[in-house]
Amino acid sequence: MSHSPIRADFDQYMVPNYAPADYIPVRGVGSRVWDQAGKEFVDFAGGIAVNSLGHAHPALVKALTEQAQKVWHVSNSLTNEPALRLAKKLVEATFADRVFFCNSGAEANEAAFKLARRWAIETVGADKHEIIATTNSFHGRTFFTVTVGGQPKYSDGFGPRPQGITHIAYNDIEALKAAISDKTAAVVIEPVQGEGGVLPAQAAYLKAARELCDQHKALLVFDEVQTGVGRSGSLYAYQEYGVTPDILTSAKSLGGGFPIGAMLTTEAIARHFAVGTHGSTYGGNPLACAVAEAVIDTVNTPAVLAGVKAKHDRFASALNALSAETGVFSEVRGMGLLIGAVLSDKYKGRAKDFMTAAAREGVMVLQAGPDVVRFAPSLVIEDTDIDEGMARFARAVRAVAAA
Ligand code: PLP
Repeated sequence: MSHSPIRADFDQYMVPNYAPADYIPVRGVGSRVWDQAGKEFVDFAGGIAVNSLGHAHPALVKALTEQAQKVWHVSNSLTNEPALRLAKKLVEATFADRVFFCNSGAEANEAAFKLARRWAIETVGADKHEIIATTNSFHGRTFFTVTVGGQPKYSDGFGPRPQGITHIAYNDIEALKAAISDKTAAVVIEPVQGEGGVLPAQAAYLKAARELCDQHKALLVFDEVQTGVGRSGSLYAYQEYGVTPDILTSAKSLGGGFPIGAMLTTEAIARHFAVGTHGSTYGGNPLACAVAEAVIDTVNTPAVLAGVKAKHDRFASALNALSAETGVFSEVRGMGLLIGAVLSDKYKGRAKDFMTAAAREGVMVLQAGPDVVRFAPSLVIEDTDIDEGMARFARAVRAVAAA
């Protein structure tokens, strides 16, 4: 007889590196999700900014099932049609001339950092290998990316780390001026720090970073794993800021829930990843690329991108009203549909309590560190779902505030 999985199986069979909630989602349509017991949730979490078109979006189901009837996988000694179509669309929609596909945000960043160093070492010399990143950033969990990420709690305890990486404060132009030198290969920035608390970059900071990189012949790398593919209200947040990077990484929303990552760059830089220098068995997988192509086709339209900005305002005004009523939040910040409600002093450190209370009321939200409740819903979430989810969230906030 087959065993029906229950939450306790996680503790019995899985490595204990996560602490999942006590319910197990089994089905989703649009921005509604149901668990094993049939309880319904409004989804403001989007699988951490991944389900860019909600659940079971017809265009994505069609792309996946049609491709599933054709070819699932070929090795990288061959290319395939979905990868070529997707690469062309990404190039046409961005600054980039060339695309590298992989399976996750960490892999896209790993490729970006390796490429930046390769480019610097080959164009200038071995000394030019330093990477400047910012404290509180997050770039993934491979040992290189977690070391570039500025949160020692994630990179400590694994022995000697990759060298040549410096961390400076985010949004601090003077700190960047002081740290950058001709030994700098790359400056790495999230246009909005996602995991670090939904903290947007100031436009002047990104402009200064661009200028300083140009002065010191260093590459500007934007990690758009969380901000990319429409979440900011533009296809990529760099377009919103008007500051163009040399390398951009994308994942999460790109696959709408199917794993894919991409690194975008210019022709002159891409040349330094010559045949054999880097690779990934599944990178450019036809199923992933077919789904991502449907995501790009659906998201990169004026109506959807304008919708993201309008929905931002709907979230922000509901959160600001809730804040005025309860005093729970000190600030509502973010861009497009990546929104952070910062807990006021009295509630600092309790983001998880709000997340748990929200789930109890039937709405899935996220935290971004201990002090920020984060919202990263579908880019096409219906206004009625926003209103219903916010009503449930308001009940959760009132319950925590009253406890
Ligand atoms: N970069 C940023 C900005 C992220 O937010 C994340 C994930 O949260 C990553 C990289 C890592 O992506 P992945 O978990 O797909 O490896």
